[in-house]
This record gives sequence, C-alpha cells and structure tokens, in this order.
Amino acid sequence: MQRINNRQLFFQHLAQTSDKPIGIEVASANGVYIHDIDGKSFMDMIAGFSVCNIGHSHPAVIKAIQEQVEKYMHVIVYGEFVQAPQVQYANAITQLLPENLQSVYFTNSGAEATEGAMKLAKRVTGRTKIVAFEGAYHGSTQGALSVMGDEYFRNAFRPLLPDVLHLRYNNFEDIELIDNTVACVIVELVQAETGITLANKEWVIALKKKCESLCALLIVDEIQSGFGRTGTLFAFEQFGISPDILLVGKALGGGLPLGAFISSTKMMGTLTENPVLGHITTFGGNPVACAAGLAALTILQNSGWIEAVKEKEDYLLAHLHHPAILHRNHFGLWMSLQFESAAITKKIAAVCVENGIITDWFLFAEDRIRIAPPLCITIDELIIAIEKIIKSINQSLAS
Ligand code: PLP
Repeated sequence: MQRINNRQLFFQHLAQTSDKPIGIEVASANGVYIHDIDGKSFMDMIAGFSVCNIGHSHPAVIKAIQEQVEKYMHVIVYGEFVQAPQVQYANAITQLLPENLQSVYFTNSGAEATEGAMKLAKRVTGRTKIVAFEGAYHGSTQGALSVMGDEYFRNAFRPLLPDVLHLRYNNFEDIELIDNTVACVIVELVQAETGITLANKEWVIALKKKCESLCALLIVDEIQSGFGRTGTLFAFEQFGISPDILLVGKALGGGLPLGAFISSTKMMGTLTENPVLGHITTFGGNPVACAAGLAALTILQNSGWIEAVKEKEDYLLAHLHHPAILHRNHFGLWMSLQFESAAITKKIAAVCVENGIITDWFLFAEDRIRIAPPLCITIDELIIAIEKIIKSINQSLAS
C-alpha cells in the first residue's frame, strides 16, 4: 500500500524531467548496494553519478553527520561566522592542492560552483568573454547552460549569456582563437557526458600556456572527475598543469549537497569589494555537508581506494567485453561502453536494472552505457557486476 502511494505521489507531485525514470523506491543503501522496499538489491555501477565515491552510508560519514547535527546545523549565511567544519574542510582540501589554490568558496552544487567561478574570472580580469568547448557539461543553471557544449540542450532556453565562444575539444588550431578579450577558459579534462572523452595532455598544456600568455584564467571543472575517480585525487595532477580556478562538487560532500570553486586568496579577495558581497549563498558550505565531506575525504586518503583504481580499471578492461560493445572509453574507474544505437543501449540499461545493476547512458552519448562504480568496489563485486552486465547484454540482444 505504502509503495503504491509513494509511486503515485512521485508522478503526481514531484517535478518530472526524465522521460523514463528508473523508479526504484529506495529503502536503504550501503557500500555498492542500493536496496528497494521489496528487499531487492541493486549494485550501483554509477555511484549516484560519481557522488558516492566511498560507497553509500559509510559509518564514519554517518558518525560525522550525527556529531555535527547534535552541535549545530544552519546558523547563518555563508562567510559570516567561523564554523569549524567549513574551515577544517577547506584547510584539508587546500593542503592537497597547489599553492595558487588556497581559497575555497563553498556552494550547494556543481552548477553554482561554475556560476561563481565565471563571475570571479570576470571580476579578476575585467573582461567578459568566456571560452568553453563542444561536448562540455558544467551544470544546468542559466550561466552553466550557456557554456554547455550541446546546442540541443542550450537552444530551448535562449537568450543565454552573451560573449561565449565554443571551441572544438582537443583541437590545437582552435586555441589560436583565444584572444585578450577572454576572461576565462572553462574545461573538463575528461568530458564526462560525451562518454568519457579524455583530453590530450599536450593540448591541455598548450591551453594553459595560451591562457597564461593572455592573463586569461583557466577554470578546470573536476566536479565529476574529482575525488579519486581517475586514479589521482584530481585529474589535473595527471596533466602537468594547475588550474587558476578549480571546480569541485558531487563527491565533495560525501553524499550531502556541496560544491566549491577554489582559487588563490588574492583573486578570491576581489569578491569582497566593489561590490562588497560579490557572491552570496545562504546554504553554501552547510556545516553538516562540510563535516560529511571532510569525513569522506579522510576515508579516501586512508583507504587505498584511489591507489587501487588502476588495478580495477585494468580488471574491467580485461573482463568487461562483448561482441556487441563497439568501443570502450575509459579513464580510471570510469568507462563508457558503446553499442550500435541509443535504443539498444537503453534496453540494456533497463535489463541491467531488472538484473540488479544500476547503470545509465550519457547526456550527449545515448548510445553508451556508463560504468562509474563507487571506488570501494572490490574485485569480487566487480566480477559479479561484469557477469550481470554481460548477461543483460545477451538478454537484450536475444529479445
Ligand atoms: N560539471 C560537471 C562536469 C558535471 O558532471 C556536473 C553534474 O553532472 C556539473 C558540473 C553540475 O553539477 P550539479 O548537478 O551539482 O549542479
């Protein structure tokens, strides 16, 4: 009875944007598993879209949340009181970052981090033009949508931000189109939503050099690639560059909503004057979310899971193959499996759910299945997941 009610209410009162919601009614989740109200368990092979990098409901995160909730929750808007979880988390993250990334502005989400970073770049440079790339995803708010690299998604919501130039990803010639009117270049080092498209390292270095030569800021979006997904805490560590502004989100909050844009203290200082309160958020840096995020980061650092990413990536590459998989893109514990059409891919994803595997396709690559499990997944769990995925592919092709 309860289930029917909640399913009905889901469609009646929850705004729907997905044309085919997965619709599992969640009872609980732990480790790599999500359990529904009928007692069926599903392996989460997308980690809540790269949020649950340490798995679901880690006891240390729960403890940190409980302890913080008992002390205080929301007390005031961002940046007025000294709140230990915020400052301790900012301190912990910045210790792991280069010396030009020492000032953290916490937001509620990834898109808000994108918005804040673009404002900061305009403020620091006094310029307005923003360069982004085809295939990019930086969030769904108006500013973030303006830099999204897909016309189908952008077009319905025009007018968007003026002065945005979209260049071809990994194209050296297009770098020459960046000139001294550009405030910032925003880039993902791994474009997630085109199906895990890896940036060419030389191209990234050339992009960084071009920005430096023009005093334009390089914003690196690690909202999805961050927190160990690629085998290092942040992907930029593998590209020989350091961002001027780093965007983080998703796994940042250890399962609670949290994002951030991180830059130098000097640059961030421009948001304090002319106008004062140059960026405002009520809930950004919520102390409970920061306590959860700090606990999650501590677990990541002490678990060895980041170091084990390569071994698990290799295991997937060696064992997750099937004649129907046309192509695999991968970087770390992050893979896309390409099939002949979007229709086949969606059918496979649906059969995977029936077989107890949660996966999905990509926003700009509907013919690819997404594989991005929690980093805590064991090889034994990977073996089960691979078996189920291959079984689902066979069943989908047979029916
Ligand atoms: N940037 C990237 C690379 C993302 O993958 C996402 C979300 O999928 C965002 C930005 C936006 O984050 P949020 O959904 O928290 O606003």
